[in-house]
This record gives sequence, C-alpha cells and structure tokens, in this order.
Amino acid sequence: MIHFVGAGPGAVDLITVRGKDLLEQADVVIYAGSLVNPQLLAYVREECLILDSAGMTLEAVIAAMERAEAENKMTVRLHTGDPSVYGALREQMDILSAKGLLFDIVPGVSSFCAAAAAVQAEYTLPDVSQSVIITRMEGRTPVPSRQKIADYAAHGATMVIFLSTGMLYKLQTELTAGGYGEETPSAIVYKASWPEEKVLHCRIGTLAQTAREAGIDRTALILVGDFLGSSYSRSQLYHPCFSHGCRKADPSQLAYSEYKK
Ligand code: SAH
Repeated sequence: MIHFVGAGPGAVDLITVRGKDLLEQADVVIYAGSLVNPQLLAYVREECLILDSAGMTLEAVIAAMERAEAENKMTVRLHTGDPSVYGALREQMDILSAKGLLFDIVPGVSSFCAAAAAVQAEYTLPDVSQSVIITRMEGRTPVPSRQKIADYAAHGATMVIFLSTGMLYKLQTELTAGGYGEETPSAIVYKASWPEEKVLHCRIGTLAQTAREAGIDRTALILVGDFLGSSYSRSQLYHPCFSHGCRKADPSQLAYSEYKK
C-alpha cells in the first residue's frame, strides 16, 4: 500500500497523528526534500529506505513505489503542506491506478493555514471577504488564460499567492492592474511555522521592496486583502439576535454586542 501523506507546513509537530503513525511504520519514505522538514525523518524505523524526491523524476518516483509494492512493502510519499495544493499528486495517482496499485491520502496542514496562524488573521471576515483565492503567478508552469492574478484581483477577495516570491514586482503590478489599490494591506510570510519564520506586513505597492530588504526570495506566501485591515462585521452565528439549530435568539444579551463595527 502507498500512502500520500501531508507533512504539514514545516514544524515537526504539525504533521497529523495519522501521518506520523504511518511514518513510524513505513518501509520506504519518498519525501519532497526541498520543503519537507528533514526532522520528520527521525520518526522512521532504522531499516526504512529514505528517498529524496527533489532529485527524482515522476518516473523514478513511480519506479521506487512499484519496487516497494513488489516486495510487499509499505510506502509513505511525504508531501509538503497538504498534497492537494500544488502537490503534483494527480499524475502520481493516475499512474498508480493504471498499474492497479492501491493508495490513499492523509491530509496535511497546508502552508496557507500556517500563514494565517502566523499573522493571527482570519481569511473570511463578514462584509470584507467570504472567499479565499489560492493562486500563483505564471512562471515556468503556465496558468490558464482566464485565471491570471489580475482577473482574480478584480473581486477584492482574500488572495493567497503561492510560488511567486521571486516575481513580486510583477505580482504587485498585476494586482493593481486588476483593481486592488496600492494601499491594500498585504503580508509576506516566510517559512510559516519553521523556527526561522518571518512575517512582514506591507502594502501591495511595497511587496517587492519589502521582500528585497528582508532578503526573501523563496518559500514564502503572499497574503493580500482587507482581511488584514481593521474593519469587519461580527458574525451572525454568535449574534444574540440570530437563532439557529443549536441556539435561540436572546436579544436581552444585546448589551454585549458592541463589537459590531
Ligand atoms: N502543498 C504545499 C504547497 C507546495 S508548493 C502546501 O500545502 O503548503 C510550494 C510553495 O508553497 C512554496 O513556494 C511557498 O510559496 C509555499 N510554502 C510551502 N511551505 C511554506 C511555508 N512553511 N511558509 C510559507 N510558504 C510555504
């Protein structure tokens, strides 16, 4: 059996319990060495074969999995964050399915969640943004034509931009071309949850300069939107005047509802 496991964003204790259990039992671990914290490998058994996929092709990864399956071994394919986000997961699953090899997936804490924790923010605020757009700049990997940064910027929703730290001047130009103001609050979160984590608050207009001054050109997420600002509305769910399946409205508590902005 092959298990795709989300390693989490970096901190060793942000892997799931299930993921850690599987690592402890694995005969073979294929991990994405460029971003997975190598300290996670301390969980594996001494006789476990460890392969770093950073220097491997898809074909080599599959060949290693097939070898392990032929020997009745258990493989953990350890992906950074959650495997469903820029994980090159689908191509592996499709080949394994075609070969009749069984696999399952253990989710992980994606770096976009760790970045929100690092800035102590909530992506979805009433009256500010109810959508989170996870996207990237076009690099060597093309982005479909109707999914460019400028198209998304037009919505004013929360944006989390992966894989783009080396192109921040272009990013800020596209964000503003799409409709975001230069003053829109932004943050650069470098290595969220790692000991060397850095959080830099800035504005769209100063993204490139801020990263340059801090010497950050990789392994960061760019967060953009008014969720980083100060105004929002309180939730209906916990509002005294709002009834729902688990609670009846009790307007007598209204005195406590002064958080409404
Ligand atoms: N599957 C991963 C993303 C892999 S793509 C996930 O769910 O997080 C790799 C990109 O993710 C990096 O270039 C960077 O933009 C981002 N990234 C991964 N780990 C990060 C971290 N700890 N802090 C900030 N960004 C991170």
